[in-house]
Amino acid sequence: LSKDQGRGGIAYFSEEITRAIRERIALEARLRRAIGHQELRVYYQPQIDIASGRMVGAEALVRWQDPDEGLIPPSLFIPIAEESSLIVKIGEWVLRETCRQGRLWLDMGLPPMTLAVNVSPHQFRRSDINALVATVLAETGFPAGQLELEITESGLMANQDNATNILNNLHAQGVRLAIDDFGTGYSSLAYLKHFPLDVLKIDKSFIDEIPHNKDDMEIAATIVAMGHTLGFKVLAEGVETPEQLAFLQKAGCDVYQGYIKSRPIPAEEFAELLLEQQGDG
Ligand code: C2E
Ligand code: MG
Ligand code: MG
Ligand code: MG
Repeated sequence: LSKDQGRGGIAYFSEEITRAIRERIALEARLRRAIGHQELRVYYQPQIDIASGRMVGAEALVRWQDPDEGLIPPSLFIPIAEESSLIVKIGEWVLRETCRQGRLWLDMGLPPMTLAVNVSPHQFRRSDINALVATVLAETGFPAGQLELEITESGLMANQDNATNILNNLHAQGVRLAIDDFGTGYSSLAYLKHFPLDVLKIDKSFIDEIPHNKDDMEIAATIVAMGHTLGFKVLAEGVETPEQLAFLQKAGCDVYQGYIKSRPIPAEEFAELLLEQQGDG
């Protein structure tokens, strides 16, 4: 390599980095505007009680309705929001919007559903999450017992010092607490039992290869059994096939969520599903 080529390489490399940084800053600015311009949407994915086959709740999942690019999935903007303080604003908006919608459904006479909202590690790190939840519940009149907050294992591990305080306080408010994506982090069930958790959500990656992967089947069944021993309700994420559902039923899993029943859908469509279910008696 000649010196010139070497310099050219470095110049090219730094140009790439500069461009990536510029793109990120631009996306962040667009996202910031999107929040102000009300371009965020909450979609709801039904959660079904396995024994009765009836919907008992929904997970609230954010989408970005961009006027030019259409519906943008969270995987394309949550990680970026997570690196700035934007995630705090987005999380607050999703929580308020979900509770507002949940209250509206109750006022329409629809059966009470548990609504699960994702809380990012960044949001969880701020101890004012307790005050925010109290404020939003008071403002919207949504019952605390119908709100479930989902925290990932990594969110919990990253905040070991005040996690106990924050979770105890949320629990005291009557809010339900769930561990999201369980099995993908490094926490053990023995560790989780120290927290006032209500629900374990088995990560989709353990469900995907059922019934072909015996290891995953054993892991999923073990999580259900141990979760029950520790007093948790167990939910399976990402259920796509009847075989997976039959397996989970046999394993005694309590609730599932997945494309086999429904993708995440807009509020109006979820309300229609609830009305249909009500009609079925
Ligand atoms: P998550 O919380 O684990 O949510 C479950 C994800 O699995 C959702 O993806 C859902 O659409 C997807 N899913 C559910 N069932 C199936 C299935 O049967 N097959 C397949 N292929 N996928 C299924 P989504 O909506 O794209 O969200 C991805 C992630 O983005 C969420 O994972 C969560 O970590 C994050 N996210 C979404 N909304 C929010 C939010 O309001 N706040 C925060 N902090 N994170 C959010
Ligand atoms: Mg979740
Ligand atoms: Mg999950
Ligand atoms: Mg996930």
